[in-house]
Amino acid sequence: MKKKVTVVGSFIVDLMARTPHLPNPGETVKGLSFKMGPGGKGSNQAIAAKRANCDVTFISKVGSDEFGEMALNTFKSEGLDTKYIFKDDALETGTALIMVDDTTSQNEIVVTSGACDNITKENLELCKEAIVNSDILLTQLEINRDAIESTIKLAHENNSLVILNPAPVQEISEDTLRLVDIITPNEVEASILTGCEVVTVEDAKIAATKLQDKGIKDVVITLGKQGVYVKSGKEDKFIESYKVDAIDTTGAGDAFNGGFVTALSEGKDIFEACRFGNALAALSVTKIGTAPSMPQREEIEVLMN
Ligand code: ATP
Repeated sequence: MKKKVTVVGSFIVDLMARTPHLPNPGETVKGLSFKMGPGGKGSNQAIAAKRANCDVTFISKVGSDEFGEMALNTFKSEGLDTKYIFKDDALETGTALIMVDDTTSQNEIVVTSGACDNITKENLELCKEAIVNSDILLTQLEINRDAIESTIKLAHENNSLVILNPAPVQEISEDTLRLVDIITPNEVEASILTGCEVVTVEDAKIAATKLQDKGIKDVVITLGKQGVYVKSGKEDKFIESYKVDAIDTTGAGDAFNGGFVTALSEGKDIFEACRFGNALAALSVTKIGTAPSMPQREEIEVLMN
């Protein structure tokens, strides 16, 4: 029997322009191309999980604007229930203005979280049932902090497994960290959370122990194209990534988390779940984009067999 998963997190529209060079202050540059698409860590992870066949409910908030409509249409076309996608009357849907230098691939990004940074107590009351009835909560740090903390507390009190992907990294209270069962930082996030630079598997081992010292049971550190280091209680393993021709690694972390939670919901152990997350993420980096690059279940099974 599949366990129920709830993802609580952001929806942000990515607006990306490629340019011959990044503009200086006051300068207008004629861009080369423009692309717009659904993004936000919460939404990307929920879509990755849904495509992998997970029984997932997504909770988020958008503005009463065209981008909010785009979010709802995206979720409907993915088969995600929109019952818990709240609408803010005043704030706009979250946006990320991304400028990419076409020669150097350097970028400049302005993220305005907008509506998804305003998930209120009233909103949480309305979706309490979904959180209480789910077996696993997956959340990130891209929505307002009070909503993250209340959600984690509620899920923990109801014996759900709490997974925190601490991205984008910011300070989290010790009290909240103690309620987290599994934390899934990347190298940069693990470095900032522990104060130890994480580049190699050996570094990840040290950082994982430091995170466990904060009261977190299990630690999964994603190490880009190397793979992931997992420490579950006292047992640990390094799980190599799948070798693929990567063309765009944006959203790899989201893909991993979506796959990881899906496999856990099917009863796989944490190491096997990491292998599944690695496979989903490897496929996602072979395509351009974040949510649009998430593979379907069949593709993951072909890669893993
Ligand atoms: P991003 O911020 O770009 O979304 P991230 O930094 O959060 O990603 P990473 O640690 O870079 O996350 O990658 C997550 C997982 O994706 C890795 O553990 C690995 O399984 C997979 N992955 C990333 N890059 C590659 C690659 N080049 N080839 C194969 N798998 C990859």
